[in-house]
Amino acid sequence: MKLFGISIVSGAVAAGLLLAAPADEKKAEAKAEAKAEGKAKDPVCGMEIDAKSAAAKTSYKGTTYYFCSKDEKSQFDKSPEKYVAKK
Ligand SMILES: [Zn+2]
Repeated sequence: MKLFGISIVSGAVAAGLLLAAPADEKKAEAKAEAKAEGKAKDPVCGMEIDAKSAAAKTSYKGTTYYFCSKDEKSQFDKSPEKYVAKK
C-alpha cells in the first residue's frame, strides 16, 4: 500500500516535470527577448551597445537606432539608407 502511494507521487512528479519543461522554454524565450530589447546594434560602426547607455538614438522608418556616439547619429541622419540597407 505504501509502495503504491509512492509510485503515484513519483508519477505526479514526472508528469509535473513534463508539464514544466515547455513552460521553462517559454520563460527562456521571454528572457532572450528582453535581452534583445536591451541590446542594440549601432548601425554605423556595428558595435553592440546597451540601448539604455547609448550616447544617441534616432528613429527611422518606425525603427529606433542607437549609437555609441553623437557623431555617428549625425552620420546616420545624413544618409540612413546607407546603414539600413545592410539588413
Ligand atoms: Zn558606434
